[in-house]
Amino acid sequence: DAEVCMLRWAQAQDFSSEIQTITKGKQLSSKNCLKSLNPFLDNNNLLRVGGRLINAKVNYDQKHQIILPDKGNLTQLILEHIHKKYLHVGPQTLLYLIRQKFWPINGRNLARKVVHNCVTCVKNKPVIVKQLMGNPPSERVNVSAPFSNTGVDFAGLFLIKYKGQRKGILHKVYVAIFVCMSTKAVHIEMVTVLTSEAFISTLKRFFARRGKCSTLFSDNATNFVGAQAELKKLHNLINYPDDNLSNFLASDAIKWKFIPPVSPNFGGLWEAGVKSFKHHFRRAIGNANLTYE
Ligand SMILES: [Zn+2]
Repeated sequence: DAEVCMLRWAQAQDFSSEIQTITKGKQLSSKNCLKSLNPFLDNNNLLRVGGRLINAKVNYDQKHQIILPDKGNLTQLILEHIHKKYLHVGPQTLLYLIRQKFWPINGRNLARKVVHNCVTCVKNKPVIVKQLMGNPPSERVNVSAPFSNTGVDFAGLFLIKYKGQRKGILHKVYVAIFVCMSTKAVHIEMVTVLTSEAFISTLKRFFARRGKCSTLFSDNATNFVGAQAELKKLHNLINYPDDNLSNFLASDAIKWKFIPPVSPNFGGLWEAGVKSFKHHFRRAIGNANLTYE
């Protein structure tokens, strides 16, 4: 019938020499692309996949698929037909479906191409949304002395004991982490009490060691919602500087900036610093209680 005729014609385009060889009862050369399929000619003179599934309980078409050339319109049309008939299946399913009856040479690529070229599929393809990173702020990309632009964040709480004190009495401390915005260097200071005075001393210690910075950044701590109340207090301390702290900053001509709440291009830097500090710290001390020194 018509289908057989078309298939035979399509095979004759690409496989004429193979068909001749097989008709003569000879073996295909080992380099031939059909060799591995062990092809044979059926009653209609169609090339089919041979093989060892003689006893498998699948029907004849599934066992011995009709070989389709990878070039030519017929293979393409059959693939497109199946793709549409089965509601625009993806390449893998398409390949599985066509292999119920046909064995297209280079089928994986052909199936992919058919799906790729299908207008309906392209229209409905979900677009992968990528987050666009904003430009890093100038403090992060311009050369400056280390720590002249510094981000600050807190981690806590940790328990320490003071020397010479009775056993079992532990004090809460927090850790202020300063991260240089241009070199990513990290400096760690302790904060003992949650007052602006204590934080100012922490800042002073930091400045004494690393030099005064011109701008300090802190994030607005939206990610600390629900975090420990004390840590929140500490954040409030720096996010809403009281007179004490603002005077200190003003007298040293230090700018205080807040990064916008959700802006990974700013804050990710020292959040990462906090994370790595915790990582190393926990591993280093385990459950031991440390003294301040
Ligand atoms: Zn489609």
